[in-house]
Amino acid sequence: MKDSYGREINYMRISITDRCNLRCRYCMPEGISCVPMDDILTFEEIERVCREAVDLGITRFKITGGESLVRLGCASLIGMIRKLPGVQQVTMTTNGVELKKYLPELKAAGLDAVNISLDTLDPEKFPAITGCNRLARVLESIRAAVDAGLPVKINTVLQMGINDGEWEQLMLLAKDHPLDVRFIELMPIGYGADGGMVSSVDLMDRIRRKYPQVQNDKAVHGNGPAVYCRIPGWTGSVGFISAIHGKFCAQCNRLRMTAVGEVKPCLCYEQSFDMRRALRCGGETDVREVLLRAIGAKPQMHCFEEREAVTEKKLMAKIGG
Ligand code: SAM
Ligand code: SF4
Repeated sequence: MKDSYGREINYMRISITDRCNLRCRYCMPEGISCVPMDDILTFEEIERVCREAVDLGITRFKITGGESLVRLGCASLIGMIRKLPGVQQVTMTTNGVELKKYLPELKAAGLDAVNISLDTLDPEKFPAITGCNRLARVLESIRAAVDAGLPVKINTVLQMGINDGEWEQLMLLAKDHPLDVRFIELMPIGYGADGGMVSSVDLMDRIRRKYPQVQNDKAVHGNGPAVYCRIPGWTGSVGFISAIHGKFCAQCNRLRMTAVGEVKPCLCYEQSFDMRRALRCGGETDVREVLLRAIGAKPQMHCFEEREAVTEKKLMAKIGG
């Protein structure tokens, strides 16, 4: 269905846990407490939300977290959602640490594609960024996902003075492998507000200087706000998700739901609608009502370029990105 600005809302990001097996400094550093399991929506509750969402025209779902794969039975939830009549796509985003292990289950459940986060290829920097020494496992998972024939996108957040010098090495993953590498501008959410964001405009300048043959890539690559370019001869494309330097709100197509059932109209504002209450205490129509209210409350634009206007206080790991 359309929101009040005429945008078709057909995509929902669903966080299934606020726990994580990494401790990325800009997302969920050491010392963050997690909510009790009783407060987290059950798979049956999530399935019910998806069923109502499909009825409203939301047919594409992204499973996220925290780290989706630390929730036991993640693949079976994906299977439950994938089987709902009308669902067109279920994808997930993961840090890749456990992905290789669960790939057969995820494929069997009908997972359509996977985004894997990777901010560095440097074995020394990896623990400095993520708190854990898991680079080799993430790289194995990327290889395994590509070999399994899943569409793969690598999500990279560059931070000034930390990994911004690695833009070319990371981008080169798309040269010989059938995957896209996307650079996400660090957003001022949670600890992200303390980091040194690398502008997509500056990054594109660096790319143009090094690869003057680079071309715009107008092909549709997914459900998100990324814009893409290609280097002729490369297998994959390079994308940019630019919350600060590329206002993509006119194309916004999404709702978000946190693991405790807060349905968010927009990433940068704290406003949310209580799905857990609707599920656990509400009547027959309340789940649909929460979705309708969240769609109706979608603002015209986010305000990431104006930090003081950002009202969301939760960490990104509690929202799901
Ligand atoms: N654990 C999974 C992962 O890392 O892909 C899923 C959850 S994580 C919150 C989803 C994405 O959000 C990751 O690619 C992460 O790098 C990104 N992210 C976290 N904090 C961010 C921030 N402040 N700005 C931009 N992206 C951020
Ligand atoms: Fe965990 Fe993903 Fe956040 Fe890193 S970015 S701490 S892997 S949720």
